[in-house]
Amino acid sequence: MAFKPANNIQDLQYFGEFGGVNPSISDSSTYTFLSAKTMFDTFEGNADGCYLYSRHSSPSNLYLGEALAAMEGTETANVSASGMGAITPVLLELCESGDHIVSSRTIYGGTYAFLKNFTPRFNINTSFVDITKLDLVEAAITPKTKVLYCESVSNPLLEVADIKELSKIAKKHDLTLVVDNTFSPLSISPAKLGADIVIHSLTKFINGSSDTVGGVICGSHEFINSLRNVNTGASMLLGSTMDSLRASSILKNLRTLHIRIQQHSKNAQYLASKFEQDGIKTVYPGLKSHPSHNLFKSMMNSEYGFGGMLTIDVGSLAKANQLMELMQNDNLGYLAVSLGFYKTLFSAPGTSTSSEIPEKEQNEMGLTDGLIRFSIGLDADIDRTYLKMRYCMEKLDILKPKMISK
Ligand SMILES: *Cc1c(COP(=O)(O)O)cnc(C)c1O
Repeated sequence: MAFKPANNIQDLQYFGEFGGVNPSISDSSTYTFLSAKTMFDTFEGNADGCYLYSRHSSPSNLYLGEALAAMEGTETANVSASGMGAITPVLLELCESGDHIVSSRTIYGGTYAFLKNFTPRFNINTSFVDITKLDLVEAAITPKTKVLYCESVSNPLLEVADIKELSKIAKKHDLTLVVDNTFSPLSISPAKLGADIVIHSLTKFINGSSDTVGGVICGSHEFINSLRNVNTGASMLLGSTMDSLRASSILKNLRTLHIRIQQHSKNAQYLASKFEQDGIKTVYPGLKSHPSHNLFKSMMNSEYGFGGMLTIDVGSLAKANQLMELMQNDNLGYLAVSLGFYKTLFSAPGTSTSSEIPEKEQNEMGLTDGLIRFSIGLDADIDRTYLKMRYCMEKLDILKPKMISK
């Protein structure tokens, strides 16, 4: 049977201790043991089903982790307090001093800053490459390379990684392929395409209500256990643990993700097509004009569409700022970073979420001044939203008013 990520979430059930339809929340940081021997075994990692201390794991975090592992098709998962709290321990777990990482150059600003400015302190160095050029990816690999890192759909330029081909390169050179799938949950299932580890910032589409940060690492039992190891595990020792109350809340939101993603995708596809027809420079993987449209199509779980993220270029930062302010005043969305909210969010990445990337490098990768990144919301009437956005663009001379024919 075909891999059905949303069904895999829906089919998981953990009842509460009184038969509640939701699992009980584990409201404890520590756990009692009936015998001292069991406590010792748990420390040693040999007592399945026993909890030790909530930084290691807790029932609520395991429920959420297992649902996300089912969604991504990995053996298991470990949730964390933020997306960065998932990314940083994975890279520090996989690399030691002297090791090398090959990473896509268009990645989340925080991840870029971590690899560019932080890991060199530990003598872990990174080569940044255009991930869409497989020959450049392979050429950047050295005998010290341990990790190949990318986002399935990149932030903010919406470049698409060829996960199948990247996984072949990773296997050939004995590297771990780590894919951040934050922009395309359900639409793309990286582990099914050969990724070894899949990461999400749960802050975005998966939680979907912009009320918390959170993260997850999906991978093999062996890798997740190594992250949780009490003596050496990067997740355990760096301590970026999610709180149980929050895990329970995110799990409840996860169950409607499939409906939300379908609506985000439907609305984004509609707006992208309209903007493009109007002559606005629009980037959306669901447009035939997108350089990786066919690649995305070949990888996607088609019922979820091409996702909720699109960018347009309005020519200059000044115009971009004016347009965003006008759209916000018209209640078409919010001038805010982040993504995956019910309301459309927009920001100019060059001066916000990607400001960690130096201007020269921004230019090289095509991150222009006039770029606006949209996370398209769940609007019930997207045509009305479009017409109002169009009106804002006409006011600012970004578009000429349409001649009314007839
Ligand atoms: C937001 C984001 C992150 C970081 O997640 P936080 O929850 O903010 O720590 C990582 N990767 C991508 C693609 C993101 O959009």
